[in-house]
Amino acid sequence: MHYVANGFGDDLDSPSTEQMQSFLDALPLNDIEHGAAWCVDADGNCLEYEVGGNLTYEHIGVPARHLAGVEKKTVLKLWQLLVDGKFAEIESEPWQSGVRPTPSTAEVLRHEEEMREWQISQDLEFYDSLGAEHGASRCRASTCERRTVAHSVFCRSHHFEKIKGRTCPFVH
Ligand SMILES: [Zn+2]
Repeated sequence: MHYVANGFGDDLDSPSTEQMQSFLDALPLNDIEHGAAWCVDADGNCLEYEVGGNLTYEHIGVPARHLAGVEKKTVLKLWQLLVDGKFAEIESEPWQSGVRPTPSTAEVLRHEEEMREWQISQDLEFYDSLGAEHGASRCRASTCERRTVAHSVFCRSHHFEKIKGRTCPFVH
């Protein structure tokens, strides 16, 4: 039986392709320490993806090899090949043996961009979850003309800043 697991201790037995996709998408891109997920087949062959973009292939009896700058759609494709036992197709990737390669500047930049996009979508979700500014009183922040959201003395933007400790990127 194959399974997927991640650095947070979650795992899933015999996942479908859709479940593997969700499992990958749930990884927080800004958590380098825990942001890893791996797929293991019934024999123990393993493909481990780290949010930094490195994919490690551990085929039993073969020293670990790496791919740098891997996109999630490639990870998903390779996980599927692994659980289908299509090793020849996995081998067609340009695996590098030895120590893990250092990502190129372009890869680092691409990852940072992904991380920014992920952060913005997370922030927007939080911001929108605060609801409308229907409060009876003005936001407590000085010079702010907006009204409060529920359960707060601040408007959405100032409540966001208070909770997150950084400038709110939204004004809507
Ligand atoms: Zn305010």
